[in-house]
Amino acid sequence: MPAGFPDFRLGNVLATSFTATLTERHGDAVERIPTPQRLVDWLAVNGLAVDSCTTAQLELARELRESIHAAATAAAIQDALPASAVQVINDCSTQGRAAAILTPEGNRQWRLSSASCVEDALGVIAADAISIIAGERDGKLALCASPTCQAAFFDTSQSRTRKWCDMNTCGNRQKKARFNANHRKNPRSAE
Ligand SMILES: [Zn+2]
Repeated sequence: MPAGFPDFRLGNVLATSFTATLTERHGDAVERIPTPQRLVDWLAVNGLAVDSCTTAQLELARELRESIHAAATAAAIQDALPASAVQVINDCSTQGRAAAILTPEGNRQWRLSSASCVEDALGVIAADAISIIAGERDGKLALCASPTCQAAFFDTSQSRTRKWCDMNTCGNRQKKARFNANHRKNPRSAE
């Protein structure tokens, strides 16, 4: 991985892993796909390998990303879906021509219409977003409890009480903040 670029935050759900390429939207935002090549890298990690990406394709990807974020956020708080976001998601979904392929081992793979067709990959991501926003899958959209994050994530825990988009970052920071607060209150109770 090239030095100097922020790591990816990968989860189990394609659409929300994609929205997590911009983090801390309500704090000091971190852009995790700052260049077309980083989008190529992200797509490769997520089984949507392309051989190149233009600046215009990166812009389209970011437009889709923020549209998914807006629609998923509205769905999480049971608000009306923003029409412009729905339009972008639908446009990306209809423009993509990726095909689902069943491998001999019984896994699903995506085959893009051409290796430079970032739009096909975005179509797969848009369709994934549609399936979670439409409530087709087992889980619930929720917002991260971290005030600087508030990312929409897909809670598949049995109790549906997950609070953070990511346990290792937002969840951990919250735990540390609590520890520090307790430490200040009772300086001798902790080492
Ligand atoms: Zn978070």
